[in-house]
Amino acid sequence: MRVPFIAGNWKMNTTVDEAVKLVSEMHPGLEKITSVDKVVCPPFVSLAAVKELIKGSSTKLGAQNLYFAEKGAYTGEISPLMLADLCQFVIIGHSERRQYFGEAGEIISKKVQAALRVKLIPILCVGEKLEENEAGRTREVVAEQLRSSLAGINEADGLIIAYEPIWAIGTGKAATGEQANETIGFIRQSITKLYSDSIAQNIRILYGGSVNSANVTEFISQPEIDGALVGGASLKADEFVGIVKQTAEIKSITK
Ligand code: PEP
Repeated sequence: MRVPFIAGNWKMNTTVDEAVKLVSEMHPGLEKITSVDKVVCPPFVSLAAVKELIKGSSTKLGAQNLYFAEKGAYTGEISPLMLADLCQFVIIGHSERRQYFGEAGEIISKKVQAALRVKLIPILCVGEKLEENEAGRTREVVAEQLRSSLAGINEADGLIIAYEPIWAIGTGKAATGEQANETIGFIRQSITKLYSDSIAQNIRILYGGSVNSANVTEFISQPEIDGALVGGASLKADEFVGIVKQTAEIKSITK
């Protein structure tokens, strides 16, 4: 049984004070819902403060990126060891990292390996561009991203994958539930081929791209979709709690 999973990617938003305020607003509502794994991913500089606020609770913490080296002369980077003390999850290969910072296969695979070495759970993002989608290349693109990002990784247990079509991120133009379910089913088949059927059946695969409290049920009611990676809507406490709450309700019905 895959436990539903909702993560909020705050991206480069919130000062430390704003992050503390936001998590204080959403935390009581999140704590009432125990049948969903809930993760907030604030900017690096707010991780320590948010950690203090949610200490000992069922709401978990994630980072939005990491560098693969443990330490050294990499000015401005954050290492897996630094994060391992602070949080449990880390987003890797987000399309904004791919698009604006040139991240691709080999770097992403090194980051996934680095995270796993310190027992951080990677939330690995994959997804196609609009033109690739329109050219009918979604499966080909996603399969290649999975292959290159997971190269050299023998143990995929515990990994979380987020399917985020780039044309749906931050655009207000979400995929349909059926579209997302179809591609996520394909990702699961790809994991079977790369690893095994039992790993594919256990791995949680999320949808991400303009999810909000008004459309989350369309995604969550799909059998292959185990949760959501939420950007913009995770910056509003009511919205994020609403998404988690609806996920708990829908998944308890469709179990
Ligand atoms: C994201 O940042 O991963 C994301 C899906 O953003 P949004 O929900 O704003 O589209």
